[in-house]
Parts: sequence; C-alpha cells; structure tokens
Amino acid sequence: MTLSTDGFIFPGISTRVVFGSGTIARTSEEVERLGGSQALVLSTQNQADEARALADQLGALSAGTFSEAAMHTPVEVTERALDAFRQSKADCVVSIGGGSTIGLGKAIATRTGVDHIAIPTTYAGSEMTDILGETENGRKTTRRDASIRPETVIYDVDLTLTLPADMTVTSALNAIAHGVEALYAPDANPVTSMMAVEAMRAFKAGLPVLRDAPRDPDARSLVLYGAWLCSTALGYVAMSLHHKLAHTIGGSFNTPHAETHAILLPHTASFNAAATDALTPMEEIFGATPGAGLWDFAKAQGAPLGLADLCLSEADLDTAAEIAVQNSYANPRPFTQDDIRALLQAAWEGRRPEH
Ligand code: NAD
Repeated sequence: MTLSTDGFIFPGISTRVVFGSGTIARTSEEVERLGGSQALVLSTQNQADEARALADQLGALSAGTFSEAAMHTPVEVTERALDAFRQSKADCVVSIGGGSTIGLGKAIATRTGVDHIAIPTTYAGSEMTDILGETENGRKTTRRDASIRPETVIYDVDLTLTLPADMTVTSALNAIAHGVEALYAPDANPVTSMMAVEAMRAFKAGLPVLRDAPRDPDARSLVLYGAWLCSTALGYVAMSLHHKLAHTIGGSFNTPHAETHAILLPHTASFNAAATDALTPMEEIFGATPGAGLWDFAKAQGAPLGLADLCLSEADLDTAAEIAVQNSYANPRPFTQDDIRALLQAAWEGRRPEH
C-alpha cells in the first residue's frame, strides 16, 4: 500500500443514510426528523403504485404523489411537478425510484430549498451526489451544487428485489463505472478510493448469486451496499473520460443510460489502466487486468457487450469521437480523437480488451 505525499482533502459526507431491510417504514420518522410535515412523493409512472403506497403509509404527513418523473429530468416535467408541489402545499419531497425520479427530487429541492429524502430502487447512484443533469429543448446540461444533495437517503433492500435481471446487471455496472473513475479521479482521497474498492468486492460477491437467485436477500444487500459506496464516491470526486463518452453517446444517440455505461466501461478502464496504477486493486477482485477483468465479469453476468447491440452505426462512432474531444477534462491518460475512435470501435464490436 502506498499513500501519495501530495496529501489530500476529505470533504466529509453530509447525507444521513438509513440502510437495511424494511427501512421504508422509517420514512415518516425521517420526514419529521427534518422538520417536515407535508411530503410530496415522486416516482415514474411505472412506480406509481409504490408512490401511492408510500403516501398512504405517510398518512397525515403526505401531500400526495406526482408520478411523471422521466429519464434525464426534462425541465417541462419539473415545471409540472413544481405546480403540483405548490398546489399541495408540500414542505419537502420524497423520491422513490431510480436516477430519473431522484433527479426530479433534486430539481425541485434545488429550486425551492426544501429538504429531499431519496429512496433509491436501482443501483445507478444519483442519491448521494450533488450532481443534477437536466434536459431542455433536447440539450442536457449538468451542474454540481451543494443544494442538490439529498438530506437523507433511505436504502431499503426489499425495494430492489423486483429489479429485473437485465437492469440489475447494467445498473450495477453503471455503479461500478463510478467506482472506477473515483479511483483515478484528480481529487480522489483515501476514503473515496477505499469505498470504491470495497464496492467492487461487494458487486463481485453479490451479482453472480443474483443471476441464479434474484431475490436472495443477502446478495441484494451486498449489491445495494456496493451501490451506496459507489454513489458516495461519485458524489465527492470528479469524473473523467468514461463519463464523457457515456454522456456523449447517450445524449447524441439516445442510447439507454445503464447499458451504455456497461458496454463502455471495460474499454475506458483498459485505456486508462495503461497510465495509472490506481486501478491495480481491481486485478485481484476481477482476476485479470482491469479492462479484461471487467469484460469477463460483465459477460458472465449476461450484460450487453457491444455498442452495435444498441443500434449504433460505425459512422455514429466517428461523430461521438469528434464530440468527445471538443472540450478538455481531467483524465489520467491524454488522448487524441483517433484514440477515442479506436476505443469506440472495440466497444462497438464488443471485443475483450487486452489490458
Ligand atoms: P431510471 O430511474 O430511469 O429507471 C428506469 C425504469 O426502471 C423506470 O421506469 C423505473 O420506474 C423502473 N424501476 C426503478 N427501480 C425499479 C425496481 N426496483 N423494480 C422495477 N422497476 C424499477 O433508471 P436509472 O438507471 O436508475 O437512472 C438513470 C438516470 O439517472 C439517468 O438520467 C442518469 O443521468 C441519472 N443519474 C444521475 C446521477 C447523478 O448523480 N445526478 C447518477 C446516476 C444516474
């Protein structure tokens, strides 16, 4: 083990976390703890039943539900949600769902200053971060601000038992992508690095069990624990090339978020592993060099492996490579447009990376 003599800053972790099985029953207690008296419950249409059940459970603390959350937090949805929020006289929001619903909770909280309790039901990891990506007129903009971070996160393992097998795997790989980039982040610190490595161990132990027994409570616990760790790491450090590529491809070609991350990850990890030893702990966890180990792990879990499976053409790869080099951002390994184009070709073909 080595520790850089450059020193580090550990910013602290400001979100309260309630983790376990059946923890959704503690939502009223958490609303009251924050001084709230009327909580608007947010969800997607798919999870409207869960939102209504939570509102019923909150009883007098409920200001009703708003179940129109959508991918990439469209501003027009936020505006409708703000109308519902004001009309219901709510004084806090509770989001139950994946990153899309938590994004809507953040969008309301940052505009109104009210408290936000997030109850994640996927592994995507928006809940612990100060990051909000919103779309308006087809353009996605992302910003970071302390007011975006939820005050409380309730992780209830029981809510993840229904997560479909394909989403379980791609959402977990989306989380692992945050862990990988946290390891080589320019502002990484020993605590976020420790969390990222511990998360990868949890995913490595839990995911293979879920492939055969999707409702195994211990494996679901381990995987949700990994998701919490990766989300926390993401919330306190900067992301690099992998996120730039995933957002470029998702934003330009409307590919599904978690699948895009899952396919790109072995290739971005392989590319960057050549320039940093920050990913070395992954070799022991995944049993091969970072890119190859992740690719083997993803394949064994039945994850999609090629961008071609997402209906991208080779011409789309040219466009993506061009966009991805337009702005500069931190990355452990410098790159050219040709480097990115070659990386995308390997990801498109679904080839096993050599490193
Ligand atoms: P999602 O929130 O869009 O959910 C996908 C679908 O799965 C929805 O219909 C949802 O209702 C359903 N679903 C969620 N949990 C379920 C469960 N347990 N059982 C059955 N169905 C369930 O998908 P996501 O991958 O969680 O989030 C993706 C979005 O989150 C993207 O817009 C991404 O940009 C954002 N995100 C933001 C951050 C951040 O820090 N700001 C971090 C990660 C992801």
